Amino acid sequence: MFDSKTRTVVIVGAQWGDEGKGKLVDVIAERADWVVRYQGGANAGHTVHTGERSFVLHQIPSGILHSGVRCAIGNGVVLDPDTLFKEIDELIADGVDVQGRLYVSDRAHLVLPYHKLVDSLSSASKEIGTTGRGIGPAYEDKIARRGVRVLDLRHPERLRSLIEKAVKHANAVLTAFGVDQRADVDSTIALLERLAPRILPITDDVGLVIHRAITSGASVLLEGAQGSLLDVDHGTYPYVTSSSTTSGGAAIGVGIAPTAINEVLGIVKAYTTRVGNGPLPTELPEAEGERMRKLGNEFGATTGRPRRCGWFDAVVVRYAARVNGLTGLAVTKLDVLDSYEKIALCTGYKVDGEIYTEFPGDPVALDDAEPQYEWMEGWRTSTADARSWNDLPSAAQKYLERIRELVETRIAYVSVGTRRDQILSVG
Ligand code: GDP
Repeated sequence: MFDSKTRTVVIVGAQWGDEGKGKLVDVIAERADWVVRYQGGANAGHTVHTGERSFVLHQIPSGILHSGVRCAIGNGVVLDPDTLFKEIDELIADGVDVQGRLYVSDRAHLVLPYHKLVDSLSSASKEIGTTGRGIGPAYEDKIARRGVRVLDLRHPERLRSLIEKAVKHANAVLTAFGVDQRADVDSTIALLERLAPRILPITDDVGLVIHRAITSGASVLLEGAQGSLLDVDHGTYPYVTSSSTTSGGAAIGVGIAPTAINEVLGIVKAYTTRVGNGPLPTELPEAEGERMRKLGNEFGATTGRPRRCGWFDAVVVRYAARVNGLTGLAVTKLDVLDSYEKIALCTGYKVDGEIYTEFPGDPVALDDAEPQYEWMEGWRTSTADARSWNDLPSAAQKYLERIRELVETRIAYVSVGTRRDQILSVG
């Protein structure tokens, strides 16, 4: 992935998240100097199987599993300081050396206990199907200019007045919900007083650090969380996350120029999944969905929730390719389709008798969308040991080639299992 011309690469989910970004970041990070997370919070969960062990990372970039790589959490992330240190301590206990390799942006906003309280008691959050980790309320505070940033921890008096203002607002929201629970200033301050001595030493101006790294020729991987169809602007609003998951968000969420980005790799499953509510045009009926869910082990890494499953939707991925400017695709979980006799690809939607081949923004059109399928032969043999394009059965090659044509983007990687070595790069 990295060469003399390609120094800054974005990895972005090109469906509804859970595409296997963690594995691709893990594989590509081997040759990176820096891996930086640019949005989202502890609602993301990347699962990485290194062979002998597996790790679930929520906030720390997957690059941390490679000893030579430095990692940063960008300003676009909303940082839960409490769970960050739990994650750090677990990594240390597992023998991963984190010391001196993890940096946190001074401008990142904090997710605090009152955000989690509001999120967990909000009926709107339940309707969207959020993880209840306070991410939405923290981004709301950020946009409403009521947020608390990492750099505020340097100034205890200022911190107290910011927390007082934010807690007052959270309590007004809780009162409006008609619940008894209330947020509390002192316990929030006590938590931050306990954590500040650990956060401040790893705090830096991440935008500047990464800018300097890029200008000195370092290889930098920018790691997205969730997926393009969950982007607050470009996703299936309102069933979206609260941040810009697409590649434009990478520049903003790290604090570098968009022109510094050389490549954008879109990660897609060989089929489609979605967790939580909202449109999913290719969703399979229950029994068929259950088969795919079991084969793909489609249960959330953060919440264990079963994911909704469907065939590959080329309309969705073509849209993601356009919005992100994808320069390549990594197709993951091809092995999950190994036992199917026939495999469907969605090439368009029929809405009120009209065929759509471009993804519509209107949720009413999506509700009525009848997927138009092209059926392809399955390969009915294991792909788990394939390590090059020529090792793949010809029916699998045809399936991938059709995806490439429909999405109009080259396929750079194909992943055929959970392990690090179960991947092939396509020349
Ligand atoms: P992420 O948030 O995009 O990193 O995705 P998740 O970690 O939620 O889900 C990806 C899951 O799929 C993890 O458990 C991975 O180990 C697994 N996975 C990744 N690539 C493959 C693959 O090619 N085949 C199979 N069977 N599993 C994979």
